[in-house]
Amino acid sequence: MKAMVLTRIGPIESGPLELKEVPTPAPQAGEIRIRISVCGVCHTDLDEAEGRLEARLPVIPGHQVVGHVETLGPGASAFKRNDRVGVAWIYSADGVCEFCRDGTENLCPQFRGTGCDANGGYAEYMVVPEASAYPIPDPFTDVEAAPLLCAGVVGYRALRLTNLKDGQALGFFGFGASAHLVLQVARHRFPNSRLFVFTRTGQTEHQRMAKELGADWVGATGDDPPVPLQAAIDTTPAWAPIVEAMRVLAPGGRLVINAIRKEAKDKDTLLRLDYATHLWREKEIKTTANVTRQDAREFLPLAAEIPIRPQVQEFPLEQANDALLLVKQGETQGAAVLRVS
Ligand SMILES: [Zn+2]
Ligand SMILES: [Zn+2]
Repeated sequence: MKAMVLTRIGPIESGPLELKEVPTPAPQAGEIRIRISVCGVCHTDLDEAEGRLEARLPVIPGHQVVGHVETLGPGASAFKRNDRVGVAWIYSADGVCEFCRDGTENLCPQFRGTGCDANGGYAEYMVVPEASAYPIPDPFTDVEAAPLLCAGVVGYRALRLTNLKDGQALGFFGFGASAHLVLQVARHRFPNSRLFVFTRTGQTEHQRMAKELGADWVGATGDDPPVPLQAAIDTTPAWAPIVEAMRVLAPGGRLVINAIRKEAKDKDTLLRLDYATHLWREKEIKTTANVTRQDAREFLPLAAEIPIRPQVQEFPLEQANDALLLVKQGETQGAAVLRVS
């Protein structure tokens, strides 16, 4: 089969992903093989390629996979052939540790990430444990469904972790693939809450999209919102938004950082952290790590019910390096998705 394989770490400008012909994988017990239609492109794939996140090399990246069940492994019974399914970041966990037993298998020490510890969706086929595949609700096309599987599901987890109550103010720092989906969920779940979006200065396209999707206020990171925020979600790769979010949080407020790694560029911003201004009065910082299967199972039907309309920009599989470069530059309109077949 055809696949875009990450064989070496390097700046995305150097094209570290290569188009290769590799053996089509065979499903083992409890696994299914999926004929892939599309796969979303994520900032995490960029972190892998550039070495900020350690992946098992060589690896086929991609953890927002949509396709159809093609072959059932021995004992697999959750799906029929040709069912449309999606795969998210959780590929497998041990199922027996205290985290797994508690429903937080995203924290399992044996957690394996799709497209990182196991081959993912930048290919014509992949195999996955059937428990880590989810039915895709009908209203979505394949490309629309792809970003829901990472940006959407992880964003949903981040929103849950804010502990927001209806009527409380929520801020979004960064307005890319994840935030533009979570904003729609927040608008639906918390109709009386005011939603504030902070972007980098000059990102007028993101700001326009935020208003269109229901933001009450749009500004630049560093601006003062009209009211302090009970909660904030940071989806940026940078550090300055953390400092700024902590500054505008209300007492007892919580910042949820929804990023798997941060870039080093503006890390010295953290030296501006002042205890009284940014941390005191029981302000909290929490991070999200991956997703649980339950997050995916809850989020996909909710996304269909709202309904969420992801904005996507499509690329052919062979242009994975180019798509990742645009992700690095923050220049994609909505979520980037690779078309495989
Ligand atoms: Zn992702
Ligand atoms: Zn476990």
